[in-house]
Amino acid sequence: MQAVKLLLNKSRKIVITTHYRPDGDAMGSSLALYSFFKLKGHDVSLITPSDYPDFLNWLPNNDQVINFEAEPGKSTVLVNQAEIVFCLDYNSLNRIEKMEPLLRDSKAVKILIDHHLFPEDVFTHSFSYSSASSTSELIFQFIDSLGESGMIDKSIAECIYCGIMTDTNSFRYSSMKADTHRIIARLMEAGAENYRIHEHVYDSSTENRLRLLGYALKEKLCVLNDYRTAYIALSEAELQMFNFKTGDTEGLVNYALSIDGIRMAAFFSEKEGMVKISFRSKGDFSVQELSSEHFSGGGHRNASGGKSNSNLDEAIRKFLKILPDYKEKLMKG
Ligand code: 5GP
Ligand code: MN
Repeated sequence: MQAVKLLLNKSRKIVITTHYRPDGDAMGSSLALYSFFKLKGHDVSLITPSDYPDFLNWLPNNDQVINFEAEPGKSTVLVNQAEIVFCLDYNSLNRIEKMEPLLRDSKAVKILIDHHLFPEDVFTHSFSYSSASSTSELIFQFIDSLGESGMIDKSIAECIYCGIMTDTNSFRYSSMKADTHRIIARLMEAGAENYRIHEHVYDSSTENRLRLLGYALKEKLCVLNDYRTAYIALSEAELQMFNFKTGDTEGLVNYALSIDGIRMAAFFSEKEGMVKISFRSKGDFSVQELSSEHFSGGGHRNASGGKSNSNLDEAIRKFLKILPDYKEKLMKG
């Protein structure tokens, strides 16, 4: 922290990055830090490796975000000129997909702020706390440790609130500590309007999105009581039937996990020849282990993601084939 404090003592060229297909925590933490550095007079840019859900477009300074896929040239110049690159809400450079070589070659000081397990050893400074509820909570603590919590205005508070809220499924996971609630109270005192943020994120579905949810639950939910596991898989054609947009399936996996007795849930979706998988679990069962061992993924014990280069049916077959290896752990407790 002392080294980072010294670095930030004068105006710097800073680039903030976050993971591919950023979620509420990725965007909340990145935009909070972006707004903070702007107030401090740094020359700061925020680059995402891809687009993100429309339900995050209300976040303050959203119009300043640069999407690498849409503006690769501009992004490359900014990263190459940066003195400091912040890496938020991801633990290894392969999580930024096509931006990875750009950051690997960058001479900038790389600072990691993140809460995923097993961070890669490429960062100059790492603030990696896997017990934190969210990267957004870590941004609050980072600004506080700089002695600057007085700078947290309404805009910054709303971003941090959104990140904590989305990564804890509305403040209900075990990662939500009393201290995290105390931070939420401070964010509300700084002007964050809780009901407005919940409405933006949770009450902003399109009709298509809601009908896709209905279809997935009625037609596609598979429950394997013998493994206390439930999963949903949607093909590209099925997603297209509902005019799928990024973010439309966010949270879908939680419905599968909400069945009484289910300990693991998975959601498979197919896009551009790739299968993306979301895993969730309850209790001690680690989907982080399962996704890193079999699906080139990782994340947290109870919330992880992974991918497969095979087609959707093969990815599901592989999942069903490995389930017996986990049966004992799934049936416990
Ligand atoms: P989600 O299922 O919401 O995409 O992701 C759940 C958690 O796992 C998030 O914390 C996310 O950052 C992480 N995650 C998602 N996909 C991957 C992946 O491909 N690799 C790794 N290491 N983590 C992932
Ligand atoms: Mn996160």
